[in-house]
Formats: sequence, C-alpha cells, structure tokens
Amino acid sequence: MGRRANPGAPAPTLAAGGEASVRDLPGVGPALAEKLAARGLIRLQDLWLHLPTRYEDRTTLTPIRDLVPGQPAQVEGRVEAVERGFRYRPLLRVTIADDSRATLALRFFHFNSAQAAQFIPGRRLRCYGDARPSGHGLEIVHPSYRFLAESDEGAMRDSLDPVYPLIEGIGPQTMSRLIAEALKRLPPAEELELLPGAVTRALDMPTLKEALQVAHRPPPDTDVLLFSSGRHPALQRLAFEEMLAHHLSLRRQRIALRAHGASAIKGRGALADSLRKGLPYSLTGAQRRVYDEVAADMRKPEPMLRLVQGDVGSGKTVVAALAALRAVEAGKQVALMAPTELLAEQHLINFRSWLEPLGIQVAWLAGKVTGKARTAALARIASGEGQVVVGTHALMQEGVVFKDLALAIVDEQHRFGVHQRLSLRDKGLDGSRVPHQLVMTATPIPRTLAMSAYADLDVSVIDEMPPGRTPVTTVALPGTRRDEVVERIRVACAEGRQVYWVCTLIDEADAEDKPGPGVLRIDAQAAQSTFEALTLALPGLRVGLLHGRMKPAEKQSVMAQFKAGELQLLVATTVIEVGVDVPNASLMVIENAERLGLAQLHQLRGRVGRGAQASSCVLMYKPPLSQMARQRLEVMRQTTDGFVIAEKDLELRGPGELLGTRQTGLAGFRIADLVRDAHLLPTVHRTADGLLAESPALAERIVQRWIGSAARFAGA
Ligand code: ADP
Ligand code: MG
Repeated sequence: MGRRANPGAPAPTLAAGGEASVRDLPGVGPALAEKLAARGLIRLQDLWLHLPTRYEDRTTLTPIRDLVPGQPAQVEGRVEAVERGFRYRPLLRVTIADDSRATLALRFFHFNSAQAAQFIPGRRLRCYGDARPSGHGLEIVHPSYRFLAESDEGAMRDSLDPVYPLIEGIGPQTMSRLIAEALKRLPPAEELELLPGAVTRALDMPTLKEALQVAHRPPPDTDVLLFSSGRHPALQRLAFEEMLAHHLSLRRQRIALRAHGASAIKGRGALADSLRKGLPYSLTGAQRRVYDEVAADMRKPEPMLRLVQGDVGSGKTVVAALAALRAVEAGKQVALMAPTELLAEQHLINFRSWLEPLGIQVAWLAGKVTGKARTAALARIASGEGQVVVGTHALMQEGVVFKDLALAIVDEQHRFGVHQRLSLRDKGLDGSRVPHQLVMTATPIPRTLAMSAYADLDVSVIDEMPPGRTPVTTVALPGTRRDEVVERIRVACAEGRQVYWVCTLIDEADAEDKPGPGVLRIDAQAAQSTFEALTLALPGLRVGLLHGRMKPAEKQSVMAQFKAGELQLLVATTVIEVGVDVPNASLMVIENAERLGLAQLHQLRGRVGRGAQASSCVLMYKPPLSQMARQRLEVMRQTTDGFVIAEKDLELRGPGELLGTRQTGLAGFRIADLVRDAHLLPTVHRTADGLLAESPALAERIVQRWIGSAARFAGA
C-alpha cells in the first residue's frame, strides 16, 4: 500500500502515492470507504481531484434590502413567521427579517419535523443562498443556514468556502476533513506533475500541486470574483488538465478502434444507384457529398467512425439507406438503431419501402417484440436472412447475435450515451474486425464543442435543406389569445392542412423537479385534457391524441392515421419531437413554449415546414416571461437555422444541457466549462497531439488520473 509501513520497502513512486487507497486515511473504515467508492472515490488522487463545485462567499453579510436576485449572498436575520403546508408536496416557508427591516422567505421542500421545529420566531440565524423573486418578494429555496446564539458575535470567514458535490451519507464536515487529510499526502510538486515541462512553461500556469491547494482552500486574499467565475489561474490550470484528459481519452479510444480491421466495402454501389433512381427527388449537393464521404470511409479496411450532422429535415435517412445498400451489396449485414420506438418504426417503414422492392430483407427488433416473434426475429438476424436490421436499443441486448454485421448506424446520437454506441459495435466484433459506424444527429453542435465532444469521430455536415421548403414563420403569443390560435387551426384544416398541438409541462411545482416518470404522467394528463377541450372547440375536426403513456401499438396507429391524413389535428406531448415526418402538416402550436429549451423547440418546429406550403409555428406562453424565456422565444422568431440556434443555446445555457447529461462523459467535467474555457481548447488539442506522439504512457496516466475507472468502459 502507499504507506511506508516497511522501512525496507522502496519509496513509493508517484503512482503509488496517488494510487493509495482512501482506506489508508485516518478515520476511514469499510462503511465510509464503501460510500466513497460508490462515487468513484477510491484512490487518494480521486480525493485530490474531488473538486468543489462552487464556492460560497461568507466573508461578508448582505442586508436583505440589498439582495440582488440570482446573486448568492449571506444574510443574517431573525425568524418572523413559520408556515407549513402542502402543495403537491410538503412545504416549509420561514420568513426572516433583518435590521434593514426587509423580509426574506426561506423555502424548503425536503425537511423533517425536527428540522422544521427549530425555526422558532425570534431565533437568530445566518443563511446563504440564491435569492429569487417569488409571489411574495424574494425567497431562497433550500438555503444553507445555521442558528446563532444571542452571545455569538458571528465571526465572518476570511476566505471562500468550498462546496463539494453531495455524497449520500457523507456530511460536509466529514468531506472537508477527508480532503484535508488527502491534501496532506500530496507528493512534492515535481512528482505530482504529469504535464511535460515545455507545456507548463508555455501555459504560464501554477503547478498542479499549487492549483489543487488553492482550489480546495482559497487563500484569504483571493480575488472573489476571479475565483467564483472560475477564471482564477489555479482553476484554469485544473480545467486545462481535465479537458486534456477527456480529449486524450476519446482520442485513445479512436486509436484503439482504428487498430481493429473492418470489412472493406468495395462494390460498385449498384443497389444504391437503383434506390437513387427510384426516389421522387434527387439528392441535394450536401447529401451527395456526405454520401461520398461515407462510401469512401467504408471502402477502407479500417472502421469508419463518422458522425453525420444535419439539421432536422435535412434528409439524413436516405443517406443512411444508401450506405446500408453498399454493405448489403457486399453481402454484409447492417443494423440501424434509433432511440425511441416511434422513430425506429418510422425508419422501418421507410427502409421497407425503399429496400424490399430491391429484394432486400429488413428485420425488426424492439422491446415490444416478444415471445415467438422475438425468437423468429433473432433467428433471422443470426442467420443473416435479415440483411438490414432496424430497431431500438433492444438490438444491443444479450442474445442478439448478428451474422456478419459490417455497418452499424445509430440515429439521433444525443439520446444514446457513448457506451451504448460502443456496445452495438461490439455486436459486430468478429475476430479482429469491427463494423463501420455511422452516427446521425440532428443536434447542431457548435464547432468548438463538436471538436471536444466527438474527438473520436469524423464529422460530416449536411448543411443544405432539400429544395422547395418554405421557411417556417414563427410567432409568440400569450396564452390569453388561445381563441385566435384555435381559429387558425380551423382555417388551416379547412384548407386541407394538418396541425400539431404540442403540450408540455403545465404545472409550475412539477416543472421544478427533474424530468422523470412523474413529468411523463403530468404531460400525458395535460395532453388528454387539451385533447378534450380542442375536440369540443373544433367540432367536425378529426382530432387525435399521442402521448408517451400510450401503448406502442396505439401510438403507431395514431401516427399512421395522421400520416394518412385521416386525422387533421394531432394533440401530442413532446414524444413527437424526434423523427416524425408528415409533409402536409403546416401548423404547429406549442403550449407553454417558455418552458422548453431552444434545442427542443427547434426539434419540435422541425416537424412542420417539410412540404411546399408555407408553414407556421405558434409559440404560446404564459406571461410574465423571465428574461431567459423572452430571449429564447426571440431567437426562435428570428431564425430557423439550427446552428445559429445552437450557438445561442450554448450562450444562454452552457454546454451541459446542450449535450445532455449522458453525453460522452463531457457533462461529467469536475471543473472545466466548455464555454468559459473554450479558449484553452486549441492548446489542449496541440498538447494531446504531442503527448500521443511522444509519450503515450504519460497520456495514459493523465487519463487514469482524471477519469480513472470510468475510462475503462471506453477502452476499446
Ligand atoms: P432528417 O435529416 O431530419 O432525418 P429526413 O431524412 O426524415 O430528415 O428527411 C426529411 C424529409 O425530406 C423526408 O420527407 C424526405 O423524404 C425528404 N427529403 C430527403 N431528401 C430530399 C431531397 N434531396 N429532396 C427532397 N426531399 C427530400
Ligand atoms: Mg431523422
């Protein structure tokens, strides 16, 4: 172990120091070690890199009167009133007042009775948090607080307080103590450092040791603003190394994958040509270019790793079908995986209509395919009779065995984690060969981000829309003008057009929670009652309902009816966000549009404007609008360009949300922020190039240090 228990043993190497177990720290028994391990804190260096998520400034007190919404502050006051209630869930509201005679509400949703009983009118307390406007003045939701005795002078802190990510069963004090113990065991700076001297000198940043010490314990004279904005050199130093580790991990993954062979798909492309000739349109220039890039990749005996980015409606599906035909022509098997059953079924319909006339068998596998049908599907896949296999993540389950998978196509990549993508690839592992991978996404990712998020993929962009589309006109209207909107629907349908009405979260209290099954339920209820109201308001119109809680067969049948024009108005939840394609639909109404992010609004709106007729989108909102919501709706009104929208989204929200939490491990950054730290990326990339070429062993250690056990998944 890392401790020098035996004086005869050689001095621990750098790796041994950081590799020592957290169990070696005083006071860490099996129970605590287990809780730490559950969060990946196993080695000493995991604790060194367990960095604060933020800092609290308790060096000063802010009078309640001077609180600025959205700006965290420390406040002292006395309890004035305590109110307990229940609104969707238990609620505790404590009103405090200070010498400035202003009041502030503290609101708790999670609390126990003992905690609630401590709030006694007159008691003095000090709390810290983000004040937000509420119905009755400012409030802080779940502030951190402590009571002060009357005699307590309430000395201020002299430096910023680090706040660590919450770990179940480990209180903040224990965490601080553990970190302090771990920091005591930091080796000398030169031993800790993994970056080559040339890099650190060029960066002009503190050593890793210094940076860690400062990040965990900001010195008293720290520039508060520089620090809490993450721009302090110590924090930048850590962000740099973390981004480097992530980038290296993706690059290594790519290198490892490229070391495998793949089937070189060389045919003339006769089947693909037949499909092209049979299409009612010709490919756009962008589709042709991307298809050529894909075909060129597939000709090589090493696996293609290509991401095709194309805005909603840019025509990615047909490019995927053409690629599939090349593999089929070479006698190989193809898998196409989509994130939802609805989308997978749409692909199935398209692929069958394109491929079956050419004599190609398309097999289908999804979670709902069970019993005999599943056995039959598995047999068709295993025998190779199913030349192209379309499905959901069910394709990756155990028991699914391919005959000769040479091309794995994954649609709407942002819904899958990187590991899922890899697992489909493993299905095609055949000796040393892996399938070619084609990943399609409609999420337009700004370039800087794409370079980091997809360092393991080559990127092609379909940057041209099929001709004959008229841009969608977008208006934002308050919910009070609902009657006008209903009238618009009546007119559109009378003209033979079709309409989507999208319902989103309706309840404020639930909107605060993380999306989950509860939200799905609320959404479904909203859709149900809107469906009923619109059916009444629009007599004679054929109205359909689609939500996530319906059975797959019901969903499919509603979709088919809408597609066939039998339904004129489709009331739906955001389940229609991905992939639904009905060119005759020319009006979309999105209710509570202010609740949705830009990316989601853009995806939804992409469902209209697919035909030749002028289309429009009505964003209905509930006033008053927050500043952020107003900006979002404004962006939607001004542009339909997915890349512009993505850039704005990034600006307004930051990359975590844009990429989704399960994306590529990027969201798992401890300290780096891809927007704030984008200026470091060129150096990160250059450093990575150098390390991979000259010192792959160092590169490996940097990855191990920052990503550790998580990187093992990624090892190809
Ligand atoms: P996405 O890129 O969002 O997956 P799809 O592949 O679903 O887009 O294509 C959207 C629509 O555009 C479909 O109705 C498809 O038939 C049509 N389409 C695709 N390519 C062309 C083209 N080159 N010309 C005209 N229409 C096209
Ligand atoms: Mg698509």
